[in-house]
Amino acid sequence: MNFFQTPALLSVLPKYRDFIRDELMAREKEWLKGPLKTLWPTLDDLRKKAKSQGLWAPYLPEKEGGMGLTMVEFAQVSELMAMTPFGHYVFNCQAPDIGNIELLHKHASDRQKDEYLHPLMQGSIRSCFSMTEPGYAGSNPVAMGTTAVKEDDTYIINGHKWFTTAADGAAFAVVMAVTDPDAPPHKRASMIIVPTRTPGFHLVRNIPIMGESGEGWLSHGEIRYADCRVPASMLLGPAGEGFRLAQERLGPGRIHHCMRWIGIAERAFRMMVERSLERDMGDGTKLGEKQTIQHWIAESRASIDAARYLVLHTADKLDREGSFAAKEQIAMIKFHVAGVLDQVLDRSIQVHGALGLTEDTPLSFWYRHERGARIYDGPDEVHKSSLARSILKSYANSQDAYRDGKA
Ligand SMILES: Cc1cc2nc3c(=O)[nH]c(=O)nc-3n(C[C@H](O)[C@H](O)[C@H](O)COP(=O)(O)OP(=O)(O)OC[C@H]3O[C@@H](n4cnc5c(N)ncnc54)[C@H](O)[C@@H]3O)c2cc1C
Repeated sequence: MNFFQTPALLSVLPKYRDFIRDELMAREKEWLKGPLKTLWPTLDDLRKKAKSQGLWAPYLPEKEGGMGLTMVEFAQVSELMAMTPFGHYVFNCQAPDIGNIELLHKHASDRQKDEYLHPLMQGSIRSCFSMTEPGYAGSNPVAMGTTAVKEDDTYIINGHKWFTTAADGAAFAVVMAVTDPDAPPHKRASMIIVPTRTPGFHLVRNIPIMGESGEGWLSHGEIRYADCRVPASMLLGPAGEGFRLAQERLGPGRIHHCMRWIGIAERAFRMMVERSLERDMGDGTKLGEKQTIQHWIAESRASIDAARYLVLHTADKLDREGSFAAKEQIAMIKFHVAGVLDQVLDRSIQVHGALGLTEDTPLSFWYRHERGARIYDGPDEVHKSSLARSILKSYANSQDAYRDGKA
């Protein structure tokens, strides 16, 4: 038991552990051979099974069909789910839906909740989040070309987006668009719900990532919005508040990503250790007897454990004080844990030799799908600069507070 494990968590962890081991990990090798389209019916059956066993969407309040877990508790369940490639999907905890659920929960009108939030929570529809554009630096999201012009009771959306994860097959997109070009930069954009069946919504392609275009939930879409008209009632939250809502969405979202990455790193680590013990080098030694491999094992163990505590500490602060108070910690874990994942995954592949590049293990799947961890939701460099600026500012304003550990 660790410091962050509560009785509620301890009662559910074994159930998740069993389900993940018996229903998902046992079949992942076969699933990784693809093609993806053959998997969805099986995964959807497993979703029904997870729901019937009360394991559905544990982050939701109990009255909404979840378990009402705190962020600290959910983070530890999320780590387990991440140990196999389709874990989050089977329990309806996958990005971007989980982020959109939290967003709609807080800001959707009653009608929007009935039409979009409730089916999303039930897993009967999927969604996507459409903000980044090929023509503008996503690292500075206030620069944006997509516009939503209001005419009477209609928004007319025009723009070009890409890397809209899971757009393929989604029922709706939450689109970030400029609604007031004359407002100060952070007040220019709004979020609008756009059903993907709306004329003018064009999914141009699923963008190939390292040779894989993906499909359905596992894809990243390029989208053109061409005179795409939706009723003004599809505005999500107040006009001009798009960036504030995006910030709110991203805080918990980054903790979700970080715990998922720790689960992946943990699994890659275990595979590295197992391979080091098994692999006979042909001279009477095992791979694990080489000093370089031993150092990788030791360093990886230390970095994963340290990363986990950093994330749980951040989740605890977010639970107690909210995401604004945990801003510095959230920036810190975003780049730190992405770096740990990158390094551990790479070492595990190296230890597996050529095998690590094949689809016979989940390592190559994760390498393709998670190299982006250091880019999406803000590249490393942006988070490092933002954290450093905040530290410098606190230090300049009150050196003593920092030295006393009060800041
Ligand atoms: C797998 C994946 C999934 C994604 N899913 C979504 C999604 O669902 N919805 C969505 O809207 N977007 C999504 N994105 C887009 C993502 O949020 C952007 O890629 C990200 O914000 C970076 O923007 P950019 O790609 O335009 O890079 P740019 O802004 O062009 O930056 C390029 C590089 O410049 C460097 N850089 C940037 N700023 C600084 C700085 N201040 N100091 C030093 N160096 C800097 C960084 O190394 C950065 O990687 C996804 C991206 C990936 C890879």
